[in-house]
Amino acid sequence: VIYMKDIVKSYKMGKNTLTVLNEISLEVDRGEFVAILGPSGSGKSTLMNIIGCIDVADSGEYALAGKDIKARNEDELADIRNREIGFIFQKFNLLPKYTALHNVAFPLLLRGTTKEAAYDKATKLLERVGLGERLHHKPMELSGGQQQRVSIARALAGDPNILLADEPTGNLDSKSGKEIMEMFLELNGEGNTIVLITHDIEIAKQAKRIIQVRDGRVFESV
Ligand code: ATP
Ligand code: MG
Repeated sequence: VIYMKDIVKSYKMGKNTLTVLNEISLEVDRGEFVAILGPSGSGKSTLMNIIGCIDVADSGEYALAGKDIKARNEDELADIRNREIGFIFQKFNLLPKYTALHNVAFPLLLRGTTKEAAYDKATKLLERVGLGERLHHKPMELSGGQQQRVSIARALAGDPNILLADEPTGNLDSKSGKEIMEMFLELNGEGNTIVLITHDIEIAKQAKRIIQVRDGRVFESV
């Protein structure tokens, strides 16, 4: 579902060019649970932005769910991003004034789902992640692990082809982090494709495959 070949990405800083991704090639199949592991500054977030169609590479090939990502304008990229990817962030990125239910229903309402269907689906997803008793709580009224589960439910709302998680346990204590990883394993068992980005080898080991990135290259894929 992800195909990358010789992806190069540089940032220009005045006269200097910093090459962050230097011919990255990797593939992820539908149904996989893969961790992309690399130290701080190794280009993980840059890679995540390209995988998630937030940014485009300077050169190389990238196909997502069979679609060539090159030569797309912003609107097309946003369209592919909304359809194919469910994002999960380290800092949850929930809307603070909205309840859990509304946070999950919101992206569905934005894309034109009827109110009834959106709230129905959001309720089911929140029950799925174990928050059936917390539908009307706002983020502030939830623990970190619970907030991350809301954001997982939100990511699932659009039936994405890929769940893309950047350090999803980075803001959690180890117990909540473990629960989130167990949730990912369950969701993967139900057929969801998961790409998890982390610098933490203990987290990465819980995925089913590790792609190690170092100095802008795929160092090892096990
Ligand atoms: P961390 O684990 O700390 O989040 P990372 O692996 O996600 O690190 P990136 O954020 O992808 O690393 O950054 C890789 C390199 O690219 C860093 O040296 C960073 O300074 C540089 N970089 C990232 N974004 C930009 C930008 N917009 N402009 C210039 N340089 C950037
Ligand atoms: Mg990063």
